[in-house]
Amino acid sequence: MDALKSHLIFIGAPGSGKGTQAKLLERKFGYQHISTGDLLRFEIKRGSPLGARVKATLAEGNLVDDHTVLELLTQNTNVLESSYIFDGFPRNKFQAELLEEELLMGANHLALYFNLDSESLIERIVNRRTCLSCGAIYNLLTGPPAKEAVCDFCGGNIVQRKDDNEETVRNRIKVYDEACEDLLAFYEEKRLLRSLDAEKDQREVFAEISKLIS
Ligand code: AMP
Repeated sequence: MDALKSHLIFIGAPGSGKGTQAKLLERKFGYQHISTGDLLRFEIKRGSPLGARVKATLAEGNLVDDHTVLELLTQNTNVLESSYIFDGFPRNKFQAELLEEELLMGANHLALYFNLDSESLIERIVNRRTCLSCGAIYNLLTGPPAKEAVCDFCGGNIVQRKDDNEETVRNRIKVYDEACEDLLAFYEEKRLLRSLDAEKDQREVFAEISKLIS
């Protein structure tokens, strides 16, 4: 990438397609996809003290404290070197302020809102499967892998995330909705918010985002 593109901030409930679009944009435009959920799951998997501290919170679908997530994000990004897609952060207005003040520090950015109703979200999430190796995302109903449980891109193992069950999902969506309005107002006020109809097919959503960022 020659000049840095504006960083993208993805806002949307679990299952709204943020991760899928981030992977597509990463492949086509060279963005770095950074998902705070992935960073936290990695900490749990490698058994770090931070991972041990947040394990139960993730299992319940509640939010990890703001400063822990920001710290993890700061350690894993350099906004002067790459253009990022922030997926799953910020989750509330306070995190949005932290992102601006402590991480972006004046770097250009744009917030994209993935708008989708709750019942569609639940159906998507319980059918979602993720590649353990490269993070590619599949939907068993609308886009399954060619070979069962094997990733089309890297041959890795495809699994269901532990928190992608209906009970946890309902709580995650509720937790998300509670803070979403404030978050949208925050970016709307700065005229940095663009809304997407995330009900559409992933190719259409991708085309819409490509237009917005070019
Ligand atoms: P996600 O993969 O974005 O659905 O996130 C999975 C889980 O990680 C959430 O249910 C939270 O427990 C935690 N998490 C991810 N991002 C954040 C964040 N920005 N703030 C607090 N908790 C988070």
